Amino acid sequence: MKKLDSKGKCPFGAMHSSIKDEEKTSKKLEIIENIALFDLDGTLADYDSAILRDYNKIKSPEDPEYSRELKKYPYMRARIDMIRNQTNWWYDLDVLDLGYDLYLMAVEVGFKIHILTQGPKSCPNSWGEKLRWVQQKINIEDVTITRDKGLVYGKILVDDYPEYIERWLKWRKNGLVIMPAHDYNKDYKHPNVIRYDGTNNDEVKIALKKSLNR
Ligand SMILES: [Mg+2]
Repeated sequence: MKKLDSKGKCPFGAMHSSIKDEEKTSKKLEIIENIALFDLDGTLADYDSAILRDYNKIKSPEDPEYSRELKKYPYMRARIDMIRNQTNWWYDLDVLDLGYDLYLMAVEVGFKIHILTQGPKSCPNSWGEKLRWVQQKINIEDVTITRDKGLVYGKILVDDYPEYIERWLKWRKNGLVIMPAHDYNKDYKHPNVIRYDGTNNDEVKIALKKSLNR
């Protein structure tokens, strides 16, 4: 019969529960390590269709067609900010199919999904609306809204925007990035980045599995 300790508890019992705690902790760490970071705008949320729709409502025949390049003109930037600062503009964005495909693939492979999205300085209302969007439309608990995506840990990143991809990869030489295809990123190439256009599912799944088991 096992001897009781001074508090009347079986020492093997304590050892057993501490092994169990360790198992729990290591399981948690494993889950934490297998994080896939997902961007919102241009990835899971259809930002560009909404901007195009609203820009075209106020565009005169002399104005240029909408493109992301227009932001470099201060007067265009102001118009875009007025569009984006409408109440519920961010919350009403549709889910983007390309990003949602990738989300399903990452979940199927075994990743835990965290949202990693940039918080625009000029649209403070977007921060809360982005959070509500995630909670209501895709029901993910973990959301980081930041000014610097490079600070956040993940095993992989799914993001449409080359500048943020570069920033995140700067400290993760072996990181994998999946980039939903858009016109504005069609010329971007990087050895760690796979551009997903809705047809190369097999290529993406193989890369995700390889990254998960790394
Ligand atoms: Mg984006």
